[in-house]
Amino acid sequence: MIYLCAISNISSGSCSEDCSFCTQSARYHADIETYRHKSIDQIVNEAQKARANRALGFCLVTAGKGMTASKLEYVSKAAHAVNKAVPDLNIIACNGTVTLDALKELKKCGIRSYNHNLESSESYYQQICTTHNWAERYETCENVKRSGLKLISGGIFGMGESSDDRYSMIASLKELQPVSIAMNFFHPNEALPIKSNTLHIEDAFDLIRYVKKELSNSRIMVAGGRERMFGERVSEIFNAGANSIVIGDYLTTSGEIPNKDIEMIESLGLEIALKCNGQ
Ligand code: SF4
Repeated sequence: MIYLCAISNISSGSCSEDCSFCTQSARYHADIETYRHKSIDQIVNEAQKARANRALGFCLVTAGKGMTASKLEYVSKAAHAVNKAVPDLNIIACNGTVTLDALKELKKCGIRSYNHNLESSESYYQQICTTHNWAERYETCENVKRSGLKLISGGIFGMGESSDDRYSMIASLKELQPVSIAMNFFHPNEALPIKSNTLHIEDAFDLIRYVKKELSNSRIMVAGGRERMFGERVSEIFNAGANSIVIGDYLTTSGEIPNKDIEMIESLGLEIALKCNGQ
């Protein structure tokens, strides 16, 4: 059973943080579209399209280090509107570092899950981000679990980290036991300090297999960078253990056309999930 998820970048770019892998950092002047707030009508429209493309999850993503009062108000408004228009979508919020109280507020607005990635190991994170630390990321993940929201967490592979860093991050995820693991694969951009994806395709398949083995109760979602990392071999991710993908566009890069993904999944004889089963 394969679970489909779609994302909407509802507030894009102009971030003051210096994450070396992120085109939304204002420091690197990447050529991306920036806007403070996407209109609620547009968000609802995207949610309807996502559901028509058989997505069960719909993630409201904002750029920036974390939640502010005005961001909380905006995300809550968007969640209310999506819930009303497309009640069978599982709404996920992804708004950076957040307090327990703010998470409880999100829950009241019909948000069911919160996505916050560890991104890499604790020690490598210091090399790729100097404006905030990994411990805050871990703490937010713990807060998500305390709030009663379902935790989605993971990271990005291929940013120059060592194999030990990868296993260390996976061990941290094992402590947190997210309901879904987001496996992203670095998508290079010439504006960024990290210039290339350092992961070999066979290592990427091995990582999916390893995460599946170590986190057997979690859903394994192959997210950003999928097309670029796996190319024509993308269908092999399911054999390796993935049972969820992000369809449509990512935050600042284009994804595969949803119909093509659906055709690929069905041609493999796999079924697309119709319900979330609590995840
Ligand atoms: S990952 Fe988040 S905090 Fe870091 S630069 Fe990008 S938007 Fe900002």
